[in-house]
Amino acid sequence: MKKMLKKVSEKAPLVARNENLLDTVVEVGGVKIGGGHITMMAGPCSIESREQIMKTAASVKVSGAHILRGGAFKPRTSPYAFQGLGEEGLKLLREAGDKFNMPVITEVMEIDTFDLVEKYADILQIGARNMSNFSLLKRAGKSDKPILLKRGMSSTIEEFLMSAEYIMANGNSQVILCERGIRTFETMMRNTLDLASIPLIKQLTHLPIIVDPSHGTGIRELVSPMAKAAVVVGGDGLMIEVHHKPEEALCDGPQSLNPELFMGLMDELNGMTHNAFGGGEFNVKRAI
Ligand code: PEP
Ligand code: MN
Repeated sequence: MKKMLKKVSEKAPLVARNENLLDTVVEVGGVKIGGGHITMMAGPCSIESREQIMKTAASVKVSGAHILRGGAFKPRTSPYAFQGLGEEGLKLLREAGDKFNMPVITEVMEIDTFDLVEKYADILQIGARNMSNFSLLKRAGKSDKPILLKRGMSSTIEEFLMSAEYIMANGNSQVILCERGIRTFETMMRNTLDLASIPLIKQLTHLPIIVDPSHGTGIRELVSPMAKAAVVVGGDGLMIEVHHKPEEALCDGPQSLNPELFMGLMDELNGMTHNAFGGGEFNVKRAI
């Protein structure tokens, strides 16, 4: 471990955990990410309509989510698949976030639309497909909004941390990492969620790391078990896809939880953290 830390300190000095051992805490709209808090980000894969985002936002809020997610510019494998509502989606997400008093996170796909996304979102997400888009990372470094950086689907942990260093080296220290699964020889699941990377990254860096078991598995039934596991291994929070009617979702329905399942997951997470603290409160201090 010492050797690995030395290597990261040399290659990525801003990202590496330093002598004072303090975790970075990113704060947005009164919500803290990192430093012992467990932060829940939830919402649909894509914003589809006012009804959809409002109903889904209402349900995740009631269940205790802290941050609302939703894609407006979607990186889809097929050019014929739903690409997102664009600015209209950003407006709807903002409206829902304001209505339910939740900061909002959405993906920024390219430099051309960076200013636009920055105007509406509280946290900007750089997706797995763009983790190595260095000009986008440089632009993210100039932003005064926090950046959630997803691990590329074929990226090593070192490459992941180097991409975070790009953002920090360009002036933005508010970086949140996100493990969302990597591509392996396994084909039954959409990705292989690399949970061992969480305690390793926690040792190597001071940055918060969120886990996305929705894209990490692609299978609804696996989302809650992996979400709980992610908290046990030290994740600073979770990003969960929730849709008020997953069977009608335009994107990622098979991995989306419905409001009841999300509420069940939140209850279980509350139970886990509550028990581990002997009566402590969820999102006050982490359990493990
Ligand atoms: C998403 O979170 O909407 C997304 C597209 O995820 P990823 O970049 O991890 O595939
Ligand atoms: Mn998705």
